[in-house]
Amino acid sequence: MSSLSDVHKHKTAGKYNWEKQYSGAYQILLDTSDQDLSKKHYIQRERRIREKTKKSVSKKRLKKGLVRWLYIIVDMGMAMEIEKDYVVKDNDEKFISGSSRQQMTEIQNSGETKSVRRVEMVAQKLQEFIAEYFDQNPLCQIGVISTMEGTAEYIEMAGDNAYQLGKKLREYFETKVPRGLPSIQNSLRLAARSLSALAPDYASKEILMIYSTPYTTCDPGDIFKTMASIKDRHITCSVIGFGGEMFVLRKLTSITNGRYVVPRNTPDFHDQLMSFSRPIPSSKRNQIITPEMIQMGFPSKRADTMRSFCACHEEVTPGGYICPRCASKYCHLPSKCKICSLMLVSSPHLARSFHHLFPVDDFVDLHLPLLPEEEHDHRSTIVDLAPGEKHPVQPPSNVPTFCFGCQQRLRHSWNMRLQCPNCQKSFCVDCSDFVHGQLYNCPGCEQG
Ligand SMILES: [Zn+2]
Ligand SMILES: [Zn+2]
Ligand SMILES: [Zn+2]
Ligand SMILES: [Zn+2]
Repeated sequence: MSSLSDVHKHKTAGKYNWEKQYSGAYQILLDTSDQDLSKKHYIQRERRIREKTKKSVSKKRLKKGLVRWLYIIVDMGMAMEIEKDYVVKDNDEKFISGSSRQQMTEIQNSGETKSVRRVEMVAQKLQEFIAEYFDQNPLCQIGVISTMEGTAEYIEMAGDNAYQLGKKLREYFETKVPRGLPSIQNSLRLAARSLSALAPDYASKEILMIYSTPYTTCDPGDIFKTMASIKDRHITCSVIGFGGEMFVLRKLTSITNGRYVVPRNTPDFHDQLMSFSRPIPSSKRNQIITPEMIQMGFPSKRADTMRSFCACHEEVTPGGYICPRCASKYCHLPSKCKICSLMLVSSPHLARSFHHLFPVDDFVDLHLPLLPEEEHDHRSTIVDLAPGEKHPVQPPSNVPTFCFGCQQRLRHSWNMRLQCPNCQKSFCVDCSDFVHGQLYNCPGCEQG
């Protein structure tokens, strides 16, 4: 006969890693006082942001492909239907601002932490990824392929219309139920055929596979031949594999200079997926070929009150952008003119792609030693002070106490601060994340 604690232990041991994390969070809630809870969550959040920022900054100035063609292959095998994942809303702010036990229970009960089928989780994250990808790489084309029952099909061919792609994906995931086994070979063939036929020579050709089925694929022929032909076509393949590492996928990523990641849990999957939105270094062949000039047009905007026939939807729509060469109208930028094949962009699009070539330098952690009082009383350092009120513990006088970005007091502890190596200004982790992830300029350096 087993006691209640034995049953509890047995249950915990059988859980997946991502389930354990949330039971762990609940444990913190039970074991600690409210103050400690908010502090622990604050530190965890800081650590996550800092890891993310560090990963995002590549110190080397490499040649990168800014005109990107990407095919996403989604495994729609049985495993996507059977496996369950947790979708958690970002409750960090709530944990910090008010973190009483009652509030925590309310968050848990309100359904903000819920278990869903893996296909639902992937569908949701994919929508976020595509929005982020188009935002980071305005000069890109994305297509999506699904694979189930040993076959592969296009959900949408490579295109530059984010709205259209999002709509197609929503329709697909609402109507299709994952079943059977996926086929790595068939889906790779389909993506490679489309990329080599449609993508221009100078474009960076990429495939990203989201694979959930553990150690199984249903292929009609020799997959190693397909891999070799993908390598010859200079296509970079990366894989996010839920079901543990597979030899064929590892081999595929290593010969094509891609990445193979196995996410630990849902937030990790989100971070890993988003990391693929940053341009990768060009393939060896693209490093060698001499750069060629690409013609681009900067269309003029037509007033929204004027309605006319557009070339993209073939409908009468308000406003739009006029191609400077053939005067046909398009609803969205960037797009490619269907009449004269001119690439139509706006200057902010080019500027946004350009920043990937010159990333902001990584901010340095100052690692100031803790003052003796702080070592005993961390709690006092996260107290929000009224304006003008003096903090109980004062840092050395030569260290700024406010973040240069948001002008907020640098919270938690005096040693949790980051400094720009060029302008020597101090920043909080949130501002550092914003500077490296969205702004792409250091406000201190820009000020001169
Ligand atoms: Zn249109
Ligand atoms: Zn045109
Ligand atoms: Zn700040
Ligand atoms: Zn700076």
